[in-house]
Amino acid sequence: MKLNGAAVATVAVVTLLSFLAGTSDAQGYDFFYLVMQWPRAVCNHPRSNCRPAVPQTFTIHGMWPQTNSGGSPQNCPGSLRDVRSSGRVDRTTLGAMDRQWPNLKRGGRDPNSQFWTHEWNKHGTCSRMQPQDYFRRVVDRAASVDLLRLLRSNRIQPDNRLYRQADIEAALNVYDPVVKCNDVRSGGRSYKQIHEIRLCVQMDGNRVVSCGRRTQFRSCGNGDIRFSR
Ligand code: AMP
Repeated sequence: MKLNGAAVATVAVVTLLSFLAGTSDAQGYDFFYLVMQWPRAVCNHPRSNCRPAVPQTFTIHGMWPQTNSGGSPQNCPGSLRDVRSSGRVDRTTLGAMDRQWPNLKRGGRDPNSQFWTHEWNKHGTCSRMQPQDYFRRVVDRAASVDLLRLLRSNRIQPDNRLYRQADIEAALNVYDPVVKCNDVRSGGRSYKQIHEIRLCVQMDGNRVVSCGRRTQFRSCGNGDIRFSR
């Protein structure tokens, strides 16, 4: 195909603009959300169907490729039938996953692996990483952040009390993450509670970074937020 001068110039400008904007064309995403969940908030409603012994620490939900424009590529090629038995992730990493990334819900023969497989197939396949590299990065990044300690050191603790959004924002200001709420009923009232904290991770999966804008509260309303025990 022969391109005339105008076409060549257009291609050059588009290429340059997408490079400058850091768009996701090359990789399909720009960064990850490392999604940490507060298990009590996953499990404290009647239909949650959680296993007993709900952890009292933030656990991993997943690490999701994201684009700067708000997209989230999903279900790319490379799905696995079962992460644990696939032979694609080493034992040390699987051990760390069992500790940090439990399936909180009942069901199946290997509930943890079921949850990881869902997360790999939906999100991990779009990371352009091999399963071993992806899962190792997820557990290493999660281990590098102690959200509960950070909140506690700012006197925000899981005690069923209500906290001001501004105080939560101040406590988490190294990360400027997304704080996602869900609803809980207690004593005949409905409250917003901390459900997930979504941290930003560089595209190579090697560093947790600030999300680069003010902390976003999603589904939290405008009022104070409960941190459930
Ligand atoms: P995702 O598809 O990545 O957006 O995750 C949402 C799905 O994961 C929903 O079906 C949730 O019920 C499920 N989920 C979230 N956290 C857990 C958990 N800790 N264990 C099992 N399933 C979970």
